Amino acid sequence: MAKLLTTVNKARCVMSGDCVENAPGVFQFDEEGKSEVYNQSGAPDDVIIAAARSCPVKAITVVDQESGTQLVPMPRK
Ligand code: SF4
Repeated sequence: MAKLLTTVNKARCVMSGDCVENAPGVFQFDEEGKSEVYNQSGAPDDVIIAAARSCPVKAITVVDQESGTQLVPMPRK
């Protein structure tokens, strides 16, 4: 299993709740209603990646820590 580092840019988060709904073991709302990561390994990698991709404003970044590859959002070519 890859070591993923997932972060939320709270300045971008519009509190849609998609990530919390798709991966409740990883994301939760903070006291302001913004998403935050509370458990980096709270769901299988594919679930975390899908939840991050579900963000309508691309506020979530997922990096594979072993390879340093950014998985979400997909880097522009
Ligand atoms: S899906 Fe994106 S905008 Fe919606 S709560 Fe999560 S981080 Fe915020």
